[in-house]
Amino acid sequence: MPELPEVETVRRTLIELVAGKRIASVTVKLPRIIQRPADPQQFADALAGRTIQTVERRGKFLRIVLDGLVLVSHLRMEGRYGVFPSDEPAELHTHVLFHFDDGTDLRYKDVRQFGTMHLFQPGEEFLLPPLNKLGIEPLEEAFTLKTFRERLEKRTTKMKPLLLNQEHIVGLGNIYVDEALFQARIHPERTPDSLSSAEWKRLHESIRATLERAVEAGGSSIKSYVNGQGEMGMFQHQLLVYGRKDEPCPSCGKPIHKFVVGGRGTHICRKCQPLKRSV
Ligand SMILES: [Zn+2]
Repeated sequence: MPELPEVETVRRTLIELVAGKRIASVTVKLPRIIQRPADPQQFADALAGRTIQTVERRGKFLRIVLDGLVLVSHLRMEGRYGVFPSDEPAELHTHVLFHFDDGTDLRYKDVRQFGTMHLFQPGEEFLLPPLNKLGIEPLEEAFTLKTFRERLEKRTTKMKPLLLNQEHIVGLGNIYVDEALFQARIHPERTPDSLSSAEWKRLHESIRATLERAVEAGGSSIKSYVNGQGEMGMFQHQLLVYGRKDEPCPSCGKPIHKFVVGGRGTHICRKCQPLKRSV
């Protein structure tokens, strides 16, 4: 599933491709992608004649801002956008086509069909699902060490599921939680009450640093992720533990261990991330 860096990369490339374009009509081939309004024809009718002003991001969601409407799009497992000439035949698994009046289409393709689109009046999107319960943005100024610690320290969940929960901090998924915990030398099954002040500080810094570096590299291409222009992200080459089972730990050389935490495949160095606090 694309995480913050991948969605941010899609946003940055998409904005170059579609900002300022006017939608003439919309074709919905797979109604279940459209979650709001319930009737896909109503969705298509509402968008006809609107111009895309900008593309923003909230957590792992794209916010496509039009004149008078906001389209909230989640790529889930394998959703992707691309811009094509309207007369080019649509690729297999293309489910929604936004036909612009300049002879091009923005096309949404999704092999797994888990992606969603919700249409809102501007501002309304923050008050209703799926955006209404989202937590703090880790790359924004509001994500201070103090706020981060206050939000998490009273929880009783293990650190990994806690960081994956989008109601506390948005944008982190399986890859970047493993990376951030490794860099902070914190075992994913530790609980917040066991973390020292030094560990909170390290974790806060490593979350931000990991995400910033990944955004800079255009995200990680694991399985099928590509940005809005069909290019692969490059951060997978910089991953320290994720997907590196049995490879040497970049810090101490012991083999990376893979196990399951909260139902998710998890990568750690057992020497660098002891379950018992070492600080
Ligand atoms: Zn190690």
